[in-house]
Formats: sequence, structure tokens, C-alpha cells
Amino acid sequence: MPGELQVMVAKIPSMNPATGEILSEIECASEEEVLAAVGRARVAQGAWSDLGVRRRIEILRQFQRRLHSRKSRIAEAITREAGKPAAEALVTEVLVVLDAARFLIDNAWGLLRDEAVPHGNLVTKLKSGRLVREPHGVIGIISPWNYPFSIPATEALAALVAGNAVVLKPSELTPQVALELASLLHAAGVPGDVFQVVIGEGPVGAALMRSPIDKLVFTGSVTTGKRIAAAAAERLLPVVLELGGKDPMLVLDDADVDVASSAAVWGAFVNAGQACLSVERCYVHHSLYESFAHACAEKTKQLRVGNGMDAHTDVGPMIRERQVRIVEAHVEDAKAREARVLAGGHRLPELGANFYAPTVLADVTHDMRIMREETFGPVLPIMACADDDEAVRTANDSEYGLAASVWTRDAKRGERLARRIHAGTVMVNDVVSCFGISEAPHGGVKASGVGRTHGRFGLDEMVRVKYLDMDRMPGMKKVWWHGYGESFRRQMEGFLDMQFARGMGTRLRGAWRAAGVVRRKQL
Ligand code: NAD
Repeated sequence: MPGELQVMVAKIPSMNPATGEILSEIECASEEEVLAAVGRARVAQGAWSDLGVRRRIEILRQFQRRLHSRKSRIAEAITREAGKPAAEALVTEVLVVLDAARFLIDNAWGLLRDEAVPHGNLVTKLKSGRLVREPHGVIGIISPWNYPFSIPATEALAALVAGNAVVLKPSELTPQVALELASLLHAAGVPGDVFQVVIGEGPVGAALMRSPIDKLVFTGSVTTGKRIAAAAAERLLPVVLELGGKDPMLVLDDADVDVASSAAVWGAFVNAGQACLSVERCYVHHSLYESFAHACAEKTKQLRVGNGMDAHTDVGPMIRERQVRIVEAHVEDAKAREARVLAGGHRLPELGANFYAPTVLADVTHDMRIMREETFGPVLPIMACADDDEAVRTANDSEYGLAASVWTRDAKRGERLARRIHAGTVMVNDVVSCFGISEAPHGGVKASGVGRTHGRFGLDEMVRVKYLDMDRMPGMKKVWWHGYGESFRRQMEGFLDMQFARGMGTRLRGAWRAAGVVRRKQL
């Protein structure tokens, strides 16, 4: 059970999910060490903030250069610990982080600088306003194993450029990748205490929650997310929650079956289906249903499943056997309720304990677990629908709302439907790729989470907005201060009429009445 309370362990293994090989044993942080890390981060944060945005952008540039020159080594480290094909690690992890750095290098200065706030109300025209974006202080990041590099890195880069210190608690299943991230950041010039990693299982994350951090960015399951939200409520800690998804794909009657079926297969099986944005439900207009399902099945049978280190592998292992069991339970439930298995539908024990065959299911219904619960594995369930309305209704009939996609040759129709779908992102004619658009905000609605990462809105989460109010006439008492009376009441009525009455005559009379306020006697 994700997020279940366990005792703190002293060491955790870093394991290759394709082979079961233990790559290393890594020391875990104790509660005291988590507290000490946050304490050091707090001390170091002041100087980091004082460095200024431009210097921090230079450090990000160094990070980007180093990552680029080590791109293949980092991709292989990801494959060794998380299983995904190395080419996929390059595209969905390393490229995403290089581009997130590019976005911040180009935009952080403009997005973080002070912003003037012009006042519209006549009564406040004698004051000038400014928005000042301040770092929160120490930001805790708790991250999952499925994108062990791109998730914590994109969040950390935004936090750091905004002037925060970061303490990262990566998934216990992918600690080595987090340490690679730390060494890249430190070598680029981020001080050791400004970016720290605390290794361990759930209890280490819980210890980070209890520590005096100023904000938490959590990515993981809904179950753990709810625990985090409850603990955060106790101390009013601001949190961003990036949680699970059950993303629908809507294939309309004018869609290109060849393109859409390739998208469905990639969207369902990228990272062996272990992506928060993967295609987990597919609704196809009944006129295309059989040909679409057939095309998906044929393409799925051509996928090469194996060790991600092999350049020909399309689909790697799942992270652990317990994840395979969830997939198996969802597929067995669907089979028992008369879903048709068009491809896969079983484990691949000849490859190893963590392999499950990419699976296409047809004739699924909305009461099956495969259509309601997050499967997080290589399964593409396909359901026929009568028309666009039914497709939207079933797509919205979910506790989740991370992303969705609409497939059509008619852009206007696609946009109309996209606006009706309850999700943080809706793509027309693409799947999953929104995560790689550094300008696009990432996050969900409903159980898929609260807040945003990536882009302008992701950077906003890393700062507190302070409103700075400057009075232009410091020698003048404000007209609204004490010394009220009947004439002041009438003057204020006039003032309100002057600004808000409908007729010009009433406005002018209001202005005349209000004018007397300047001669008013005040305390
Ligand atoms: P998880 O919830 O089991 O663990 C996530 C992190 O929380 C891990 O680091 C874990 O050690 C830690 N944790 C566990 N219990 C904790 C506790 N009580 N207090 C504090 N921290 C605790 O999730 P997972 O299995 O690592 O990741 C898979 C889930 O993440 C899926 O549901 C997936 O959809 C979701 N996810 C969401 C996004 C997104 O951007 N919305 C991205 C990737 C993954």
C-alpha cells in the first residue's frame, strides 16, 4: 500500500528492475538527519537568495551544459534503476530537464522581477504598488520513481532559480538517480547545503513533512497525497500535490485511425504504462471501433519487450513485482467480466519477474476496475461510444482529472470537446507530450492534485508574492481617516456616485459633493 507507515530502515538497495541485480546499498537518513539537513538548508538559503536571479541563472546554465555533456551516462543510470529504454530516458527525462533549464534561463529574470501594480480606484491613485516575488525559504520535494530524474529536477530547478534551498526526498526505488542529480547541481555551482537529498522510504518523507520546511512539492499517489494534505493542514504548510491520473483518449469518427492507434499504443506503453499521463482509457466512436482496436492490437504485438539497455527494446520491465500484481488484478477483473484480450494479457516470466506483456483489451465497460482505478501498467482498454457527448460524459466520469486527449481531423471540433473535458491539460491530436512542454503548466483537477509545476505557473508556486505599497504624499493625512460626521458621510456618497453612478449628471453632482472632503477637519 503506498504511503503505509513503516519504520525507518538503515539502508535501502538500488535495484535493476530488469534483472533484479542489486546495484548498491544506500544509507538512509534518520529523523535527526532530516532535521539537520533542513537546518543547514535554512542557513544557506539567505546567501543563495542574496546572490540574485542573474547569478543563479548562470549556475543553471552550467548545470544545463554539464547535463548535456553527460546525457547518455545519465540516461543509462535512469535505465539501470527505473527500467525504461535508454532512448526513452533520453527523450522523456534528460531532454525534458535540458529544456526546463532553457525555459528558466530565458524567462526566470522576467518572471521573477518586481511588477508595478497600477491602481484604478481614484482614492488609491496617490499610492503606487509593486509585486515583489520572494522565495519561500526551504522547499521540500518528495518525488516518485517513474520519472526519477525529470520530476525532481524540473521542480528543483524552478525552486532554486527563485532563491529557495531544496531538500529532496526521492523515491526509495530510485535513490541513485537522485544522487546523480545532486552531483550535477553541485558541480554546476549550487552549494551543497542549498540542494540536499535525504534518502529513505515513506517515513523519511513523513519526517521531512514534520521538519520546519516552508513549502512542500509532492508528486506521487493519491493515497500518499491525502496523507500529505492532512499533515500539511495541521500546520498550514503550503503544498503542491501532483497525483495520479486515469487519462482518457477520445477518438472521434473523423480521426485518422493509423495515426491515432500509434498514439494510443505509445501513450499506453511508454515507460511500460507507468506514467501519470499515460493513456489509461480509450473511447472510440463505434464506426471506427473495430478497425482502431485491430490496429492497436497489431502494433502492440510488434513491440519488443526486454531490458531497456538493449537499443531495440520498446517496452521495459515494470518497477517491481507488486506493481505487476496490480496490473494482473485489473486485467483478470476485466477478463472475468467478458472483456476481449486482443494482445498480451499475461506476464512474461521468461524475461523476469517484473515483465508484463503490453495488453490491449476491447469490450470493456465502465464498471471494470481497468476503467476506474489507476492501473499504472502496460494496458490499453478500449471502449466504443455512440457519439461525442457520450465520449465526453464517460471521460468525465472519473475521480481523476490529470490530462486527456481528443483525436479528430477537425481542429475546431477538437477544441470544442477539449473545453468540455475536466482535466488540467487536454491535448488535441497528441498524448503525454504536454509534460515535455516547458512553457505549459502541469497539474491536475479533482483527485489528480492541487497546484501546478512547470512553466510560469510552476515558477509562481516557488515564490510568495509580497505586495509593496508606497505612498506618494507622505505629508498628507488620508481622507478616510477618523473625524467622521454627517458632512463626511455625504461627501463619501458623492465620491461613490462620482466613480460608479450610471448617469453623467449624477457623477458630476457626486464630484461636486465629494470635493468638500479636502477641507475636512481630521484627527
Ligand atoms: P507513492 O505515493 O507511493 O510515493 C511517492 C513518494 O512519497 C515516495 O518518495 C515515497 O517514499 C513517499 N512517501 C510515501 N509515504 C509517505 C508519507 N507517509 N509521507 C511522506 N512521503 C511519503 O507514489 P509512487 O508509487 O512513488 O508513484 C506513483 C504514483 O505517482 C502514481 O499514482 C502516479 O500517477 C503518480 N505520479 C503523478 C505525477 C504527476 O505529475 N501528477 C507524476 C508521476 C507520478
